[in-house]
Amino acid sequence: MSDFNFDIPFKSDLAPTMLTDTSVIKFRCHKDIECFNACCKHADVTLAPYDIIRMKDALGMTSEEFLKAHTVPFQMDAHGLPGIKMRTDDEGACLFMREGEGCGIYQDRPSACRYYPAGLLAMKESEKPGDENHFFMIKEDHCKGHLEDRKITIQDYRKEQEVEEFDDHNQRWYQLILKKKSAGPAIGKPSDMSLQLFFMASYDMDRFRRFVMSDSFKKTYAFDEGFYENMQNDLNLLEFGLDFLHQILFGQKKFDENEGAWEERMESRKEIWELRREAEVQKYQAEQEEAERAATLGEDDKPEGENCNPN
Ligand code: SF4
Ligand code: SF4
Repeated sequence: MSDFNFDIPFKSDLAPTMLTDTSVIKFRCHKDIECFNACCKHADVTLAPYDIIRMKDALGMTSEEFLKAHTVPFQMDAHGLPGIKMRTDDEGACLFMREGEGCGIYQDRPSACRYYPAGLLAMKESEKPGDENHFFMIKEDHCKGHLEDRKITIQDYRKEQEVEEFDDHNQRWYQLILKKKSAGPAIGKPSDMSLQLFFMASYDMDRFRRFVMSDSFKKTYAFDEGFYENMQNDLNLLEFGLDFLHQILFGQKKFDENEGAWEERMESRKEIWELRREAEVQKYQAEQEEAERAATLGEDDKPEGENCNPN
């Protein structure tokens, strides 16, 4: 079973218990509990694309503004696949935590916060009947919700926390990451450009939209006007971005290109390669000239008598 590794929202070294939809847990969290807010004081919340769409919309921010103000980047794998986490203060507390009041963005809080102390481990692929969702559960000493006398299935807990909508929108993104992870060295390290596109299509909807609406994109791909109208909606853009990333990361051809676009791209790349080659040659020549000049100066600057044998 693969581990998403980005749904454990709070720092913990404890080994989690593995669960399915029908597993029963004993847990309840409420405002009057003695540990209220304790979890948000050690927040280590990794974000998925739909989390960002919900929070930036709730705050009336662009994705760029939200990313800058509320997130920090990290690398999800050895290839540098970019991930993002919620920004915290110097003590590790989430910036949305309101002392004594709870979460300042409760209605739109991220999926990892909704799941806690459970978390999503692996989600069934919709086309594979019989597959099960898998979850984990961690018990941390500071979390007194485990001592409450309430039993609930994971299925019902997900409903109560309204996390299913988040999973529905994030599911294909989770699967993309698992696919990248299980492909291992077979697909190699993505180029810097592919990693940047992954970041944009996953987290920065406004910038990704600008990319999709750009002249060079329109020149390359054969989409009609209806497509570009659909791209004004973040959820449509997210869905398209996931298909686009499959093409970029795994070479799965998903979209038709305009006639001659490939040749044009190759031609413009040829120009870039030529410019780069010329720049390399010029750099090499300049270095050679510099080395020759230094060698000549060295000869002239030698102090008198340096080569004389004092004896
Ligand atoms: S977003 Fe809300 S629930 Fe999540 S860590 Fe921050 S304050 Fe806590
Ligand atoms: S019961 Fe657990 S989840 Fe609820 S406030 Fe306390 S520490 Fe956080």
